[in-house]
Amino acid sequence: MLSILALAALTAVSGLTIASLKRAPLHTATAVSRATSFTGSDAPRSALRPGPPAPARVATLASAGPCVDVPILLYHYIRVDNNPHDQVGWGLSVSPAEFRAQMDWLRRAGGRTVTLAQVIDALDGGPALPPRAVVLTFDDGYADFATAALPVLAGDGFVATDFVVSGFIGRSGYMNPTQVVQADQDGMIIGAHTVDHVDLTALSTAAAAAEIDVSRATLQRLLRHPVRDFAYPYGDVNPVVAGLAGAAGFDDAVGTSMGTVQCSASRYLLHRTRVGGGDTVWSFAVKAGVQGPPRGWQDPSPI
Ligand SMILES: [Zn+2]
Repeated sequence: MLSILALAALTAVSGLTIASLKRAPLHTATAVSRATSFTGSDAPRSALRPGPPAPARVATLASAGPCVDVPILLYHYIRVDNNPHDQVGWGLSVSPAEFRAQMDWLRRAGGRTVTLAQVIDALDGGPALPPRAVVLTFDDGYADFATAALPVLAGDGFVATDFVVSGFIGRSGYMNPTQVVQADQDGMIIGAHTVDHVDLTALSTAAAAAEIDVSRATLQRLLRHPVRDFAYPYGDVNPVVAGLAGAAGFDDAVGTSMGTVQCSASRYLLHRTRVGGGDTVWSFAVKAGVQGPPRGWQDPSPI
């Protein structure tokens, strides 16, 4: 049976219209009409060339209700990509030095990392988000999250969410079970990202439900606590799949459609903003919603 929230998501993702929105000035939830788009596509399917530094604010209509304006940034690899012919891999990769500069600048600019749970709480009438709030997310559970990103995040006092593909844990290039548990114990949030990283919209409803449910159950057995956040592989989602995420017990789900306005009725299709190989600390600052560094700024504590 679908939960009330899942039904709300189904309602929210029906009748899609795209509208441009100005960035709302506050992080407090406000009752406005927004819209949601299903236009996003996720790597590695898409050809990932760096986009313009400031993504267009795209949001939707059809979903009345409280909304907050908070960027949810999307990373994949934190690594040096040495293959000039692998444009997809390059687009998905932020070097460790660049990532450190981005995080160090975020801290200096007064950015405050928050969790998706805090976003949902704010939408549900809980505490408002702090000024300059930003959500950091990583997709796929790559090993470099544990080895390259986590030390930087911890050093800057930041929290991030890694959406782990449960069936890939322990494979070459991915976190092993110990690293997933350690990231969780270090204060990071582990979300689910299916068992096999498949396009859920291409599966039968039963098969899609299994991918979602089993990934959550596997991670919960590993972590010994509820897993609340879900990400759609490739950003592929439709109203049925969004309903399945709600029915599986997740509190929220993220896609890859761009935008920073997150609405209560669209909690199973929160928007994200990519950060990738073409980004600098300046374009990062725009995406994170903080003031950019002065011209010529260099991270005083590079790797
Ligand atoms: Zn993915």
